[in-house]
Amino acid sequence: MMLTLAIVSVIAMNKSPLLKSDTGTYLLVMQCNEEQIVEVGAQGTVVLQSGVYLYAGSAFGPGGIAARVRRHARTDHAQHWHIDYIRPHCTLQGAWVSYADTKLECTWARALLDTNSTSVPKKGLGSSDCGCWAHFMRWEAEGKVSYRTVRQQIEAVLQEACPDATPVWVETSQTT
Ligand SMILES: [Zn+2]
Repeated sequence: MMLTLAIVSVIAMNKSPLLKSDTGTYLLVMQCNEEQIVEVGAQGTVVLQSGVYLYAGSAFGPGGIAARVRRHARTDHAQHWHIDYIRPHCTLQGAWVSYADTKLECTWARALLDTNSTSVPKKGLGSSDCGCWAHFMRWEAEGKVSYRTVRQQIEAVLQEACPDATPVWVETSQTT
């Protein structure tokens, strides 16, 4: 009996929160396992090395964050945004999400780009409508670090950029 209770509480602690249909900002975390050459509409060819890739976006329309992140989790839809061309070439691990009323995608993207830990495969990816260098970038982890560590490093950047908007991690398995 004691053992069963302990197992249940561990599962409860590890379970990340489910997506809400509130509006907000998200940062997709994707894994690319080998070099990929992707045609991204008018942007042309983009070469992705293996590694972790990030994409900052926001969802302030109907269905909010839940509808948008679930859309990114699928790859069976028309290619509307730059990220739609890239997504089928990577595995979506999850997303950092903020339900703050303010649109934070540019603030998050710029804060990540300001670190020494990111590189941009192509200028303008995901940022056609704003002045940012890009909203899609590669996370350059130093040495061999775990996926969990990478997530924590990214969280620290987002938290520092917007102290009032604590990001919540949503695992891909929790997006459906
Ligand atoms: Zn921007």
